[in-house]
Amino acid sequence: MSILKVIEYGNPILRQKSKEVIKVSKKIKNLVMDMLDTMYHYNGVGLAAPQVGENLRIFVIDVSDPSGPINPLVFINPKIIKKSGAINSYEGCLSFPKAYTNVRRYKNVMIKALDINGRSFIKEAKDGELLVRAIQHEFDHLEGKLFIDHCRNRFEANQVLAKYNLPPIEEDELVSEDFLEEEIIEYEKAHPEEVEKRNKEIEELETRD
Ligand SMILES: [Zn+2]
Repeated sequence: MSILKVIEYGNPILRQKSKEVIKVSKKIKNLVMDMLDTMYHYNGVGLAAPQVGENLRIFVIDVSDPSGPINPLVFINPKIIKKSGAINSYEGCLSFPKAYTNVRRYKNVMIKALDINGRSFIKEAKDGELLVRAIQHEFDHLEGKLFIDHCRNRFEANQVLAKYNLPPIEEDELVSEDFLEEEIIEYEKAHPEEVEKRNKEIEELETRD
């Protein structure tokens, strides 16, 4: 088991599309174990193989409470088979040290993948919970997409990136998500208290060391 080096934003590896895993071999299992070690070491909620320099369709997630027992989830050759609803989600990424920004995501997803033993499984995540957001975030990494490509406000995203000396957003990578944006705006109009709560949480995250 070892802690791998996490590649940072600006490295072209993060923009490459990852390849399917042909066989869940011993080598792949070792990579998955190292990815889990790396994710826990850096207190991440998820980590995708390209982030450790392997353009393979693998990611790991653990959304359990950090004070409780671990609950690692492994997704190999994942496919999102259903998605619906819209939420605003503020996200960060181990490849973007300290930078958080508001992004658009689906509220519910269903995903099909192989586990570490090469067995197929289906997982459903709902209501905008952390797992829903993590699945979309990590899945994106396999497509060469990054959370900032879903930013709700380019100005805000660029400000955050500049603050941490990270390269600015690549305009041609931005995802057009007007229907998600419309749904989010409607929802936030009806729930201003949630917007306020989230803004406070972002502020706390940014001042944390
Ligand atoms: Zn990430």
